This record gives sequence, C-alpha cells and structure tokens, in this order.
Amino acid sequence: MGRPTPVPESDVSPVLREPAPADVVPAPVRYEVTLDESVIDPDVQKVLRRLVRRGYEAYAVGGCVRDLLLGRHPKDFDVATSARPEEVRELFRNSRIIGRRFRLVHVLFQGGKVIEVATFRKNPNPDTEGEENSELLIRSDNVFGEAHEDAMRRDFTMNALFYDLEAREILDWVGGMDDLRRSVVHTIGDPETRFREDPVRILRALKFAGRLGFGMTPDVYDAIVACREALQLAARPRVAEEILRLLRGGAARRTIYLAWETGVLDVLLPELSALLYDDDAPDGPGRRLWRTLAYIDERTAEEGPLDDTVLWTLLLLEPLKEACEGARDRAAMVADFLEPLVDRLAVSRRYADGIRRIMSILPRVAQGRAGRFARTDLFFPALTVAAASLVAEGKSTEPIERLRQAVIAQDPRSFGQYRSKPYPSRGSRV
Ligand code: ATP
Ligand code: MG
Repeated sequence: MGRPTPVPESDVSPVLREPAPADVVPAPVRYEVTLDESVIDPDVQKVLRRLVRRGYEAYAVGGCVRDLLLGRHPKDFDVATSARPEEVRELFRNSRIIGRRFRLVHVLFQGGKVIEVATFRKNPNPDTEGEENSELLIRSDNVFGEAHEDAMRRDFTMNALFYDLEAREILDWVGGMDDLRRSVVHTIGDPETRFREDPVRILRALKFAGRLGFGMTPDVYDAIVACREALQLAARPRVAEEILRLLRGGAARRTIYLAWETGVLDVLLPELSALLYDDDAPDGPGRRLWRTLAYIDERTAEEGPLDDTVLWTLLLLEPLKEACEGARDRAAMVADFLEPLVDRLAVSRRYADGIRRIMSILPRVAQGRAGRFARTDLFFPALTVAAASLVAEGKSTEPIERLRQAVIAQDPRSFGQYRSKPYPSRGSRV
C-alpha cells in the first residue's frame, strides 16, 4: 500500500499578515494553497459562496481538507460557518435542521445529495487539564463558538484545517499543516485529556494512523496505552461504528495491528487478542487473522468497502471458527459466542443474525455447494467470507469461484442484487 502523497512544499506558503491584536481572537497561520478545486463538489462550493456573500464566515473543514491536501479523494465535504442553524435554513430553501444533541443543517441537492452545514462550536469544558478523569467525559457539546474555537474542539491537528474557498487559503490555528507534512497524528492539546473527554478518539487515532500510513507522536501513543480502558465508557454504537470505519478504510490489517500493539484490542475484542498472544505457529489462528485482514484490504482496494456483515464476520472469523469446531448446531454455537459481543459492542441484531447464518452455511459453501442458500441475500457475502477463510488457510479459492460463476450463470441478475440491495434482518432460514 503506497504512502499518501505528501503535501507539496511548492504549493504551500504561509501568507504574512498583520497579526490580530492579542486581546481579540487568536489569528490563524494562513497558507496559500493550490487545491484541485475540480475535486471540490460544485454544490459545496455553492453553499460556501452563498454563505460568504451573505456576510457569514464559511469554510470547508475537517476530513475533506486533510484529504485534499494529501492528494486523496475526499469521501464527503463538511462546511462550518458562523451562521446559526436557523440562518442557514433561511438561506437554502431545500434544507432542514437535524439533530437534537447538536443541531446541524442538511442542505439537499439533486439526486439525494446532502451537504452538512455546522455552526462553529466550542469545547464545552475548555480548561479541564488536571481535573478528575471522570469529569472530563464530554456529555453534551452543543455550545456555539467562533472559528478558532471550532478548530480547537476538533480531535487531531490534521482534522482542524479550514479552507477558505474565496481566498484559496488554509487557516491553521493548531499546527495541522506541519503535522501533515511530518505525517503524524497529533491531538490538539494534551492527548490524555482529549482521549478522556472522548475515548472514541483513541480508535480514530488508530484509524488515521493506519489508513494514511502516518506515525503517532510518542505522547499520543503513550496516552492511548494509558487511556485505553476508558473505551468502556464510550457510547457503544459509536465504538461499533468506528470499528467498522477502520475496517472499511483499506488498512484493516495495519490498524488492527496498532490496536493490538497498544492494548486497545484487549479492551474491545479480547477474543481476538487472546488468539494473537498465544500464537506463534506459522499456520495458527493468529497468522490466519492477519491474512484475513490483508484479504479485506485487498478486496477493498479492488472494489471499495465490503458489506458490514461481511466485515464483522471476517473480523471475528477465527474465534468464530474455533467456537464452531466439531459442533453439530453451528448456529447455536455462533449465537452463544456473539451474545457477549452484542452487549459489549452493540453489534446490531441484524449483523449478528447475518453472521450466524453465514457461519452455518460456511463449510458447505467452502466445498462449492450452496443449494437453496444460493437464492438468499446472504449468498454472495457468504462467498466472500468463504474465500477469505480459504485464503487465510493458504488454500485455493477455486471452488468458491466456480460456485460464484455457476450461480451468476443461472441468474445473471443476482450479482447486481448483491451489490445494490441491503440484506433484510430476517431472511429465509438456513
Ligand atoms: P473520515 O474520512 O473517516 O470521514 P473525518 O476526519 O472526515 O474522517 P468524520 O467522522 O467525518 O471524520 O468527522 C469530521 C470532522 O469532525 C473531523 O475531521 C474532526 O475535525 C471532527 N471530529 C470527528 N469526530 C470527532 C471527535 N470525536 N472529537 C473531536 N472532533 C471530531
Ligand atoms: Mg468525514
């Protein structure tokens, strides 16, 4: 996997300006940049320009700016503005205010496209360094603020860069441009404080380090080790979503390795770390896990992110296979194995049901037999899992390929269905 393109030096130069008076607001360092504007969604540009024309501040922010600077294609674009949600709502006829915890505006465009516009917010407990750990956890963060405060409340320096479309400048209050150039993940402010405020940031740090091939500064690494238990305090659906995101990002193997190395895996998925600790055998379950994760990354590079049920199944494949070994009722064994996980990580019932059905049919599919299961929505996901399982065991995936071809030949529409249809939570019984 190649490293991301570094921020080109020639395209980036700080613009010297008169510093703002110290008692007003902190002035950002401004960098004149040449970003490829053809990559910035034209509707995002429209939203930014209209807000600015009406006298508000408005910037592209967060992951999209980071990705543009790294020469990567942004997944989506976020807009931050000084306008309040009601004011944004008034400017765009096709928009609606959403969210209770923090209110955002969704501006709707043709084809179901949604652009999220957020009013600048600030960290609700700004001076918390040295406070009791349990007091740090942020429970509500819906306090409006100014642009610099909105930058400071973000998680990592590389995620806090604001792009001013009109001026073609990056505004940097946090040293994000330097960290991007050095390819490091660094929190804004003290890492321990920031991880205790929101432990999901630990997973985000691992995700970005893995996905972008970045290093972590030593203080961030040490803080992850020191704060990892705090992940148990985080909202479970957020943790589950973040795990899926790190599996989808194309660097599942590297990211899970980092999670193991830092001990985060012990907290979240002891079922997996146990396999890794007592495994030195060349073909043992630990090695198979790394090969399975590498398989996820290969497939993701070829065809984009895999289905979520497939991702959960593959992540847990080795301990799942162990649980099923010699069992007559595989579905029941899988259900028992998943029960604590469903609780600990809020893995939804829908996924658990899919995992159970895929694991039940797996031995037959791996031998190239599918029967009536070939007509269910889980057939193609099961093929992916079976292929990964064979690859992890160092075996040929040929029976799977033959089965796939045979089923597609019988009903060519089925392949398209797999790509476009979500799996129902309850399907025909295996
Ligand atoms: P991805 O490419 O995975 O979407 P992203 O950086 O865009 O990465 P999002 O989850 O989409 O991540 O969040 C958008 C932005 O919101 C981030 O870039 C960051 O500035 C901010 N953010 C997200 N999660 C947190 C958090 N837990 N704490 C502080 N800021 C956050
Ligand atoms: Mg994003």
